[in-house]
Amino acid sequence: MFNKKLITDIDVKGKRVLARVDFNVPIKDGKVEDDTRIVAALPTIKYLLDHGAAVILCSHLGRPKEGPDPKYSMRPTAEHLSKLLGKPVAFSDECVGPVAEAAAKALKPGDVLVLENTRFYKGETKNDPEMAKQLAALADIYVNDAFGSAHRAHASTEGVAHYLPAVAGFLMEKEIKYLGEAISNPKRPFVAILGGAKIVDKIGVIRNLLKIADTVLIGGGMANTFFKAQGYPMGESLVDGEALETAREILQDAGPRLRLPVDVVIADKFDNNAHTKIIDVGAVPEGWAILDIGPETVAAYSKVIKDAGTVVWNGPMGVFEMPNFAKGTFGIAQAVAESQAVSIVGGGDSVSALNQSGLSDKITHISTGGGASLEMLEGLTLPGVAALQDK
Ligand code: AMP
Repeated sequence: MFNKKLITDIDVKGKRVLARVDFNVPIKDGKVEDDTRIVAALPTIKYLLDHGAAVILCSHLGRPKEGPDPKYSMRPTAEHLSKLLGKPVAFSDECVGPVAEAAAKALKPGDVLVLENTRFYKGETKNDPEMAKQLAALADIYVNDAFGSAHRAHASTEGVAHYLPAVAGFLMEKEIKYLGEAISNPKRPFVAILGGAKIVDKIGVIRNLLKIADTVLIGGGMANTFFKAQGYPMGESLVDGEALETAREILQDAGPRLRLPVDVVIADKFDNNAHTKIIDVGAVPEGWAILDIGPETVAAYSKVIKDAGTVVWNGPMGVFEMPNFAKGTFGIAQAVAESQAVSIVGGGDSVSALNQSGLSDKITHISTGGGASLEMLEGLTLPGVAALQDK
């Protein structure tokens, strides 16, 4: 299934290895707030160190607009990694160029260096071959372990792979194995749950999943656009006007595989303390908005999830940031956790709901990459993976 060379397929001893990791983590007051993604890269980093490589790590962090910005420095991730590894981790203020080259040259086997944010350089997102060559000049081997960035063809995720022997890390392999298996050879029934605010980002995903899944359960703000397409007045609910026609087409083609909520929680303001009502799906009164799926929907969806062989979930069922509109999302989290199905959850909000309810360990695979996992579910090839050497 995973047909790319892995770090175990090449000799890394005595080599300098440039590993693209996904250290795009939340930083607060110069400290790493949530280290899930750093921890997820440890198996690859430790393997390389244990096998006599010098490890150079690069990643992007946030979306710096115009060059270097201390707010988006990778330095806190280097400090945090040093604690996790229990050894010093060097840091280079430059990602490419003479400073980075000198820092890379100084490394001995077993040493670790973190480079500054790849996105401080314009060449990164442009996939500029010059930047890719400069990155390649730092090392003998390139490893991509940044699944969360693999859907982007950037200099550090794709370009550099053309200038060095390029292989996958363990996290990349794991993510693609679970998602790839779900898509190409799922244990059935295969149930997909999609939520979140906007349909536009997920139209391709819905279409592809309708071809391969047995049931697609829709929740969150994107259900509203389908309701509107069915002709219901939606009050103040979030509706994606531009996607209405597409929503109509999908409804026409989908048949019973596509399931929409049967009841919803409405509110008279976008506020946790708003007045609320639970109504059957239909006309939303003027001035009111749908902010969550209702209890009957949670029960109906939970039943489908319980009988599933494979469950893939991406996106919240409501405005779960407000406790009064979080019941739908937490109810679905509970159902996914209780199901015997192979369960794969991606996307920051769904993962955060699972963490908040302490249910993460009941999930088969929690994906570190929201966007990348959606592109896989859409049936697209990830450029960061395509560029690696075949087995
Ligand atoms: P996305 O980035 O598309 O996955 O959307 C996530 C966001 O969708 C979360 O911040 C939710 O608060 C929001 N959301 C979910 N359901 C609704 C809804 N019914 N109305 C407005 N926003 C929603």
